Amino acid sequence: MTLRLFNTLSGQPDPLTPADGKALRMYACGPTVYDYGHIGNFRTFLEIDVLRRFLRLTGVAVRHVMNITDVDDKIIRNAAAAGLPIGEYTARYEQAFFEDLDALRVERPEQIARATEHIPRMVELVERLERAGAAYKTEDGSWYFRLASFPAYGKLSKKDLSGMEDGARVDVDEYEKDSARDFALWKAAKPGETSWDTPIGRGRPGWHIECSAMAMEYLGESFDLHAGGEDLMFPHHENEIAQSETATGKQFARHWMHVHFLLADGRKMSKSEGNFYTLRDLLLKGFKASAIRLALISVPYRHQLNFTFDVLTEATNAIERLRTFHHRLTGTKWPEGASSQMVGMNLSVAEEAETARKKFREALSNDLNTAEARAAIFDLVRSINTKADAGALAQQDIPVILEALQDFDAVFDVIEDRDAEPSRRALEWAEQAGRMDEVAPELLARQALSDEQVEALVAERTQAKKRRDFARADQIRSELADKGIVIEDSKDGVRWKRK
Ligand code: AMP
Ligand code: ZN
Repeated sequence: MTLRLFNTLSGQPDPLTPADGKALRMYACGPTVYDYGHIGNFRTFLEIDVLRRFLRLTGVAVRHVMNITDVDDKIIRNAAAAGLPIGEYTARYEQAFFEDLDALRVERPEQIARATEHIPRMVELVERLERAGAAYKTEDGSWYFRLASFPAYGKLSKKDLSGMEDGARVDVDEYEKDSARDFALWKAAKPGETSWDTPIGRGRPGWHIECSAMAMEYLGESFDLHAGGEDLMFPHHENEIAQSETATGKQFARHWMHVHFLLADGRKMSKSEGNFYTLRDLLLKGFKASAIRLALISVPYRHQLNFTFDVLTEATNAIERLRTFHHRLTGTKWPEGASSQMVGMNLSVAEEAETARKKFREALSNDLNTAEARAAIFDLVRSINTKADAGALAQQDIPVILEALQDFDAVFDVIEDRDAEPSRRALEWAEQAGRMDEVAPELLARQALSDEQVEALVAERTQAKKRRDFARADQIRSELADKGIVIEDSKDGVRWKRK
């Protein structure tokens, strides 16, 4: 089943397959690590996670590269204000970014590329552009891309650039004006700023050249897919195309995917507007990481999604339904025999589950329609629950239903309850950050175990060890550890204490 993914460049859904027949080579613009990411940023990374998981579910290997922007104006400014070298400043937020990705169960790309570790590649690209007559140096020692040298400029965002002024320049990385300008490839060092001594002068790279250089380094001059949020289409991606295609004479990325915004109060969620939540904010309010994941991916990536707490509550309830269903299926001794022979059934459970599974895959292959895919599985859950209530479910129906759930979870990944750990980490963080006053009482209640509950688990662990069920014993130990309870085995028996 080939995925048809909307391609911003062609303006239509195109089949997405690896050009080399082996692995789909994709590049996704990563975070600028100057602060904690907000859930709008994470929506983009989550939708890209849906893409890579669905590709793998349908047998397509992926080679996914993501950059970390660890030098830019904001980073330099914030690091200076904190009195830290930029490397020390960014390391903290890079780590926080990966912790948040883990909490949201976003798979790691095959390759992470930090901008500061690829400066020579970027310099080479500027030199190549100069040789092609498309880069020029200004009096202060900065380098610019000459837009007039790339007539196809605007082909991605379909902007009409007829009024373009030749030689008008812009040195900021992000600009949203419609009029295109020659943009900075390399910024000359200003006193006191982080800079590198290179053959093209002392300075630091612009943001756009970073992605071109690192994408080509790991994926080759031409590759399958480039992805990012819709705000990156212009000018960032347009600039990446101009630089890369001018340097190589080849098509840069064949396919472009843009994830639409997460909104809050009808406006793009963003740091500058102040209408944002970080993942930590929401975990401290008592929402579970799995619910945040499900809420952010349930609306297909080409639709904007207005964030509200109701959306999270809906996702929380949906996950609860799924988990209860999964428990019921696996934890019940169903009657032997074929349910298809039971009274009043016109479609066998096996057929029904197969159909749901097919619908699920078809929906995702149709431009990653997560809403329809999700509905196919929830319809199945409802129908099977009804059958089970009516006594019309048999043991031999179970595997095929579980297979459908497995498909669902290969992409959505919310059924297995791994929510305690992210919440525990958020609490730990709140303690360090002095933000315990924001913690919802229900989160504390959920995390804390009463003495009786601890005693019961400790006793269960002792029993498990006696019957040599060490897996269960270890599981209990780690569950307790998650809740801050340490067990010590001694010759007088087991002792436990709270951390
Ligand atoms: P940044 O760290 O600001 O460079 O952004 C990282 C990623 O998040 C980029 O792909 C952005 O396009 C994306 N992004 C930023 N704001 C939003 C939002 N409100 N909704 C969805 N994606 C966003
Ligand atoms: Zn980029």
